[in-house]
Amino acid sequence: MADGNLDRAARHVLQAVMVRAAVAAGDYPAMIGRRLAGQLDLRARAESTGSPVERAGAGDRALCAFLATILSRRGPDVHDYLTGAFGYRPERATGLRHHCGRELLGIELVPHWAPARPRELYICERCGPAYSLPHGFAPPSRLRVDPAALRVEFNAPLVHAGWFAASRQPIGGHRERPLLPRALAPGAEALEVPIPTGAGPGLRRFAAALVVDGDYAIFQVPDTT
Ligand SMILES: [Zn+2]
Repeated sequence: MADGNLDRAARHVLQAVMVRAAVAAGDYPAMIGRRLAGQLDLRARAESTGSPVERAGAGDRALCAFLATILSRRGPDVHDYLTGAFGYRPERATGLRHHCGRELLGIELVPHWAPARPRELYICERCGPAYSLPHGFAPPSRLRVDPAALRVEFNAPLVHAGWFAASRQPIGGHRERPLLPRALAPGAEALEVPIPTGAGPGLRRFAAALVVDGDYAIFQVPDTT
């Protein structure tokens, strides 16, 4: 997740769009969301002018908390908040398989403001959205789900410190309870989260969000517990 200043600024602009869309949809508290979007705007402005910007600090933690909340309310289609901000390239075979064993297709999401740094959306042919990853961030080398925990093993150790959180994802209208963000140190090779108890009926997914150095990744698996 290492980019130039304008790439970093563009990603924060996109994140601000995502937060404001979540507030507009009634999925995120308005006061907290507007404050977070304003912080992301300031971060984008600072990045674009080359001003020193705090990395891996409160901003990343706040974005991680936002993602965990959204995953607990929105279900699998978080990237829909960015409709209109991205172009979609044709899907392609990746040769990779999801935790469920089925094939993963890859789709590049091309930000209109940063076309050279597309995000990558991995779609499972069975489960739908599986990973949403920043440009250059490889899919996990291994995912393990047992009754107590989800473990996501990264393809390479993290260069920077980060934050992660997780939630069950609803299929239907109820809301799950997200976990609070937890810190990851530079060099971390995996994240592991306990699987929280869900309150609602029906099938669910489980999702983890990772924020490192101002960008985010989402990992989604079917909840078979
Ligand atoms: Zn799957």
